[in-house]
This record gives sequence, structure tokens and C-alpha cells, in this order.
Amino acid sequence: MEKIRMTTPLVEIDGDEMTRILWAAIKEQLLEPFVDLKTEYYDLGLPKRDETRDRITHDSAEAIRKYGVGVKCATITPNAQRMEEYHLHEMWKSPNGTIRAALDGTVFRAPILVDGISPVVRNWKAPITIARHAYGDVYRGVEFAAEAGGKAELVVTGRDGQERRQTIYDFECPGVVTGQYNKDSSIDSFARACFQYALDTRQDLWFSTKDTIAKVYDGRFKERFQAIFDAEYKARFDEAGITYFYTLIDDAVARVVRSEGGFIWACKNYDGDVMSDMVSTAFGSLAMMTSVLVSPDGKYEYEAAHGTVTRHYYRYLEGEQTSTNPMATIFAWTGALAKRGELDGNEALRAFAAKLERACLDTIESGVMTKDLASLWEKGEPTVVTSDGFLAAVRSRLEQAL
Ligand code: NAP
Ligand code: MG
Repeated sequence: MEKIRMTTPLVEIDGDEMTRILWAAIKEQLLEPFVDLKTEYYDLGLPKRDETRDRITHDSAEAIRKYGVGVKCATITPNAQRMEEYHLHEMWKSPNGTIRAALDGTVFRAPILVDGISPVVRNWKAPITIARHAYGDVYRGVEFAAEAGGKAELVVTGRDGQERRQTIYDFECPGVVTGQYNKDSSIDSFARACFQYALDTRQDLWFSTKDTIAKVYDGRFKERFQAIFDAEYKARFDEAGITYFYTLIDDAVARVVRSEGGFIWACKNYDGDVMSDMVSTAFGSLAMMTSVLVSPDGKYEYEAAHGTVTRHYYRYLEGEQTSTNPMATIFAWTGALAKRGELDGNEALRAFAAKLERACLDTIESGVMTKDLASLWEKGEPTVVTSDGFLAAVRSRLEQAL
């Protein structure tokens, strides 16, 4: 069989630990035999980040800007323990944070559904995609502890030196106080990324905040979304037959639980952090959650939502064959290949991505799966396989399909 050709390189970003092992195996078993892979490779494994003083992370983000599509393996975000383990020069920042900031992107997370593993919420039939604003609010907040008798004030000094000042609280006992911000440019990027992604995937977009309480702060989010929608997207939404819908977050939670799924739920930073864990757990497993970073000008980075699966890696280093689930990492590749195919008008590449996804789903639906899914399986006794066993089963289905 002749291999499928690619015209534009895909930005390939390698990572750490167990997912790095899976990465190489996926390429060897499921991609390279069928596709003449054209990638620009960036090694974001922690040793290389340290060696390049994290230059490589910035370079990889630049490459995504240039080529438009990247696929990323999970990476370690260093902490004190990792500093020792890897003898690091510095506690390098989260690569995901760096790439997100460089692309000014929004993260969309969606579960992979299989027949035979039902969501905890019975009426969910289609995936719910969470779009999380990844800038500002409590994540960039300043916080203090206050003593009894202390007074907290909010002061905004204008360019002309003019102060606006308001008492937040006169503390009669000890307490805590925080200051948060967001900015219009980031809110606008978030809005555009959400509208763009809704059009790309032809799904309705919901957005929720608490604007009844935070009238100025959350009110700004609501206003910017509506203004951008009306000016730039309404006609295209109408044409695509999809809708934009704003509601209060309390109402959104109730509606989401009662829904059948199949839409995008845009959330502010904190709401998205919490709701994406809730939604992924309710759909089954973190190992079945995909993630894509979308910039407002249409650059895409695909990855798994889970981390480097450290516990499995240490067992792997001791020679054990682990049963780590490669689904989300495979789907990161298929997402990126399909997008590359779409942008390049490469139908063969798109079709290959779809067939590989189908082969993965068929494998699980036939009862063959990794250990993490076995306890969720509802159709009798599953066949639990190692990661390699799973890849081999997918490969033989893929070969038949091709
Ligand atoms: P994790 O790697 O997601 O793993 C947490 C646990 O979830 C695992 O121990 C495993 O449970 C289960 N799990 C996750 N993915 C799985 C898979 N594909 N197959 C089977 N089980 C899976 O999270 P973590 O242990 O908190 O973090 C490990 C490292 O990853 C950290 O250094 C962190 O900085 C990094 N991280 C990176 C990203 C990213 O690059 N996007 C995201 C999150 C974390 P059992 O052990 O019970 O089997
Ligand atoms: Mg979280």
C-alpha cells in the first residue's frame, strides 16, 4: 500500500514519562506504516527544556503560529520534587501555560464516547465540550490576610493620577481579601475562539457567568460576547444552523445536567477548571478526554487532557508491561491530522484520521480495552490488555479498514 502524503508539516511536540513511551509506540504502530509523516519535531521532554533553558517551548509555540496545527504529548510541569529528580537549573513554567499565552488560546475539552460505557448522567447522549477561558481572574489574583482592625480598599489609579477608591471591608476580626482582574483583549479572544470553534464543529455555544452578582466584572464578559457575536458571527451561525445562548451559571448547570449533550459550554477560568473535571468524570474517565487549544486567529494544538501518568511510568521502568490507555493521545494525533487535512485539502489524510478513530472505538466496543476502562464496561466480561496489546488490536482493525 502506498503511504498517504502530507503537504504541510505538522508541529510535533514530544513530552515526558509514560505518555512519551506511548507517543513513540503510536507513531510506530499506527501512523508511520500508513502515512508519510511530515512533522517538525520539538522535544519538550523535561531534560531538553532544561538544556535549552526552555527556549524549545517558545520555539514550538512559534512553529504552531507558523504552520497552524500542532500535536502535543503530555509534559511534566516542574515542582520542587521534579527539580531534584531532574537536576533542573530552574523551575520551568508549565509548557501548556507558555504555549497558551503565546497563542492567546482557549482550551476546549471533549470526552470520547464509546458504546458500552455510559455517562453517569443517563440522558447525556453526545459529548459536552467545555471551553475554558485560560487567563486572569483568581489565577492572577493578589491576596492578603487581614488583621482585626484592618481596612481593605479597592483603588484604581487612572492615567492622569486620578484615584477611584472604595472600601471593601472594615475588618472587626481577622479575615482575607483578594483582588482580581481581566482585560477586554483577552475576553474578546476567548469569545472569538469559542464562536470560531462552534462554527468549526457545528455545535451550539452556551456561555454562562454570574453577572447578576458581578454586574461590572461578569457583566463585561456577557456584553463583549454579545457584541462580538452580533457584529461578526450571527450571520454565519444562522447559515450553519447553530445558536449562541447566554444564561446565568446556576441555570446553565441545571440545563446541562438535563440536556442530551452535543454542545459547547463556555466558562470563565475558574468555572471551566471545575466544570471540566465534573464533566469528564461524569462521562467516564480522564483517559478518554481530548483537549484542543484554539487561538482567535485559527491556530490549533491538540493534546490529551491527562498528564504523563507518572505512576505507570515508574512501573514501566521496573520492566512491567503497563495497561495505560493511549486513546486520548491517539485522538490528539487524529484531531491534528484531520485538521491538517482540512486546511490542505488533503482528503486522504482526513479519511485516514477518521478510520483510525473508528478502529479505536470498534476495538473498545468489541470488549478489548485497557484496565482503567474495565470497571466501567457494561457489556459482560472485558478483555483487558496492555498498552501494546491495545495498539496491536487497533492496528489490525485499521489494516482491515484500509
Ligand atoms: P495524570 O498523569 O493525569 O495521572 C493521574 C492518574 O490518572 C494516573 O495515576 C492514573 O491512575 C490515571 N490516568 C491518567 N491518564 C491515564 C491513562 N492514559 N491511562 C490510564 N490511567 C490514567 O496526573 P498526575 O499524576 O497528577 O500528573 C503527572 C504529571 O503530569 C505531572 O508531572 C504533571 O505536571 C503532568 N501533567 C501534565 C499535563 C499536560 O501536559 N497536559 C496535564 C496534567 C498533568 P492510576 O495510577 O490509578 O492507574
Ligand atoms: Mg482542575
